[in-house]
Amino acid sequence: MKIINTSLYEPKKLRTLYCFIHKLISKDEGRLPHWGSLEIKVMGKTLGNNYSGTACVGKIHHSRNSDQTDMWLSMNINCSIYEIAQLFAHELMHSYGYEHHQFHTDPLTKDQMKSIEDRFSQPDLLLEKAFKTSKKGVSYKAKCSELEIAYDWLCIDHLDYLSGEGFILEVTDTRVDHESSYEYRAEYWRAVSWKGAYDMALDLIKEKWQIEFTENWTINISEEELSYD
Ligand SMILES: [Zn+2]
Repeated sequence: MKIINTSLYEPKKLRTLYCFIHKLISKDEGRLPHWGSLEIKVMGKTLGNNYSGTACVGKIHHSRNSDQTDMWLSMNINCSIYEIAQLFAHELMHSYGYEHHQFHTDPLTKDQMKSIEDRFSQPDLLLEKAFKTSKKGVSYKAKCSELEIAYDWLCIDHLDYLSGEGFILEVTDTRVDHESSYEYRAEYWRAVSWKGAYDMALDLIKEKWQIEFTENWTINISEEELSYD
């Protein structure tokens, strides 16, 4: 069995886990006849569910030059050991030749899961670099709401009435007199992503745009602070 890995999991440790699961399943199913040549691609996952997978049903002869493989597994770093184990076991059942109606979606029994959980833990399976990125990834939407809570004059709205213009967020400083300044501000203070809106909100908080575009800034700014770059 061979693992081609581009995920944030440690391929050697996945290999140990997968071999262990194969051993458990082979007690009922026998050794997978093409276990020796089984090729598994393990990838990271950034969208949607924590994991997904697909596998060829039974043994498939791939042409030598194709980039086809026997099993594809995608997992993000938030997968539980249960999900990691059942995902592989599920796809392995396909490798044995079974279709969905022929086996339980989560093929490992309670007892089998227990023996896996006794030996393996999810954080141990991760590569060192998995811990360097934020565990849940940065949610700029969440960061925007944090700023809105911290600064009660800050308003970040999703402009869903602007149909046909795609996803637009408007960042507003409610302290400002918009009667005189709305026209050009409206143009500048719109973002097409939460990251963009967050960066704009930070500029607002630092008073950068108040200084540039209006005379209505409300916070006392010393001469020193005015000499920003
Ligand atoms: Zn399936």
